[in-house]
Amino acid sequence: LALLRDERYLLTAEFLILAYGTLVSTALIIYGGVEGTGVIWVFTYAFLAFFIKGQRAGWLYCLGWVAFVWVMVKLSFAIPDSRRYSDVYLQQLVSALLFYSAMAAAFNLVRSRFEADLHDRVEANTARARAYLDQLQYLALHDETTGLPNRTHLISLLDEAIGECQGENEAIVLIDLRLERLFEISNILGDRGGDQLMQSISFSLLERYGEKGRLARLRRDEFGFFYKTDLQHVSPRHIMEMVGGIQLTYHVDSYPIHIEHTMGIAIYPRHSTRGSDLLRMAEQAMLQARADKEDVSIYNEELNASFVRRNLLFGQLRQALSNKELSLVYQPQIDLRSGKIVGAEALARWRKPNGEYVPPGDFIPVAENSGLIRPFTKWLIIEFFQQLAEWQRDGLDIHCSVNLSARNLADPELISDLRNAMSRYAVPANKVVLEITECSFSDSPDQFMQTVDKLHRMGFQQSIDDFGTGYSSLSYLKDLRVNELKIDQSFVTNLLEEPSCSAIVKTTIQLAHNLGLKVVAEGIESEDVARLLARYGCDVGQGYVFSKPLSPEQFRAFAATRVNL
Ligand code: C2E
Ligand code: MG
Ligand code: MG
Repeated sequence: LALLRDERYLLTAEFLILAYGTLVSTALIIYGGVEGTGVIWVFTYAFLAFFIKGQRAGWLYCLGWVAFVWVMVKLSFAIPDSRRYSDVYLQQLVSALLFYSAMAAAFNLVRSRFEADLHDRVEANTARARAYLDQLQYLALHDETTGLPNRTHLISLLDEAIGECQGENEAIVLIDLRLERLFEISNILGDRGGDQLMQSISFSLLERYGEKGRLARLRRDEFGFFYKTDLQHVSPRHIMEMVGGIQLTYHVDSYPIHIEHTMGIAIYPRHSTRGSDLLRMAEQAMLQARADKEDVSIYNEELNASFVRRNLLFGQLRQALSNKELSLVYQPQIDLRSGKIVGAEALARWRKPNGEYVPPGDFIPVAENSGLIRPFTKWLIIEFFQQLAEWQRDGLDIHCSVNLSARNLADPELISDLRNAMSRYAVPANKVVLEITECSFSDSPDQFMQTVDKLHRMGFQQSIDDFGTGYSSLSYLKDLRVNELKIDQSFVTNLLEEPSCSAIVKTTIQLAHNLGLKVVAEGIESEDVARLLARYGCDVGQGYVFSKPLSPEQFRAFAATRVNL
């Protein structure tokens, strides 16, 4: 049976059957079979031929067969005993002809009915399959909830539009619009409510833009929209006229929920001549706008480079954490009156396996904007406490500062991480100074105050880093349980040249002292500045004039020379 599936074997088998049929029917005509009745079977050949070979080839085979029989009958005159029953032939032939004609007619009728039925069923199935296919095709190109084109479709629509623009004085403005905090809103509304929200938003966007261009839904919380315009009309002013002031409001029980959004824009032909690239650029511009806390951002080559770099860094930083490419260095802090070493600030360093150094100013923001700040800080705390415990054991009794970012303060695990490290390494909390920056205020002041309070009760010292560069209000400062202010290096660096800086520094020192806080000045690069700061009453100094950040061993050696000054 397996052989019969092979086309060649099948053809040979068919041919053999028909050839055999030809021989048998010839023999039957010549010899007449049993008492001449065998001639009846002769006609089965025609059936066989039509059945096996189909209508057209069937005719050919039948004609061939008649010719062959005719030749053989002619030849049979020479054979004795042939056509012995010629008297019954006529009668047999006529009755056989009638019988087979009736059979063939009936067979044909049944077959044509069967074929028609089959045809109908095939048609119906094909139509159903086609409908499914259409539906699949539709789903592959559209968003189910809103019925809008999806990302793939938008790209082909864009490419089409770009094709139409070629050589013309036309431009295409593509906007990537992302809805903000949709997750929280959908959480409240539930699945169905979330769908209705999306439908309502797509409806209002369609109302506004449907006539002017094409709208698509790119992701759950992202829409894409493009329109054609004159090349002269792609200035930021023109674009803002088009996209500025979109208000997306959704009503739940007639209570309006305002949905914030961020837009990124890319322009054909300025940025790219390919739909997919243009979309990627608009998305990057959108991410850039979010990072800058802007509403809208137009794609920009330089921003893109930094974007790509940040994303690269993200992947590498994750590896760096597990590969132990990170280390801590310590910058001495010097008592400006006595010149003795009183403390150190731990600063993170990242050297890649290829020797490349990545400054913390580059990778800390990357960690902060991804989830990596958490594992990073866990590592930082352990490394820091371990070192501090070692120095304490060696009798080096100093305060040690460590930097925490705003994200850390919002993380409930910070407290337990610190507590665990404290008990594991038996370091007294009052030797640890946690440096926090002013910008931690602005996001959620109340939570910030609470965390600072908790850390204070745990016994940690706390310092406000980069003081003067943020926007913290002084009223918070008086309630904040911190022990130290670090004057930002931008004021210190220009202390001698700019009177305004010296005014700020002087006042900050007074303010801090009035609030009972210690003052540290960072970024001191010259003896003159150090002396002036000492005169102003600044307590502690940190900067290249004393020492650059040092490895633990170098720091130990430096401390040995400075402790007993
Ligand atoms: P920061 O906490 O204000 O640290 C002071 C920065 O000034 C350090 O840069 C230090 O090397 C540099 N510096 C010290 N003395 C001088 C000087 O005399 N002149 C000049 N021009 N610079 C001086 P660094 O190490 O590049 O750190 C930059 C920032 O990165 C830090 O600012 C801090 O905000 C952040 N950072 C560093 N390490 C960590 C960390 O472990 N965790 C967190 N969350 N942030 C960190
Ligand atoms: Mg610091
Ligand atoms: Mg600082």
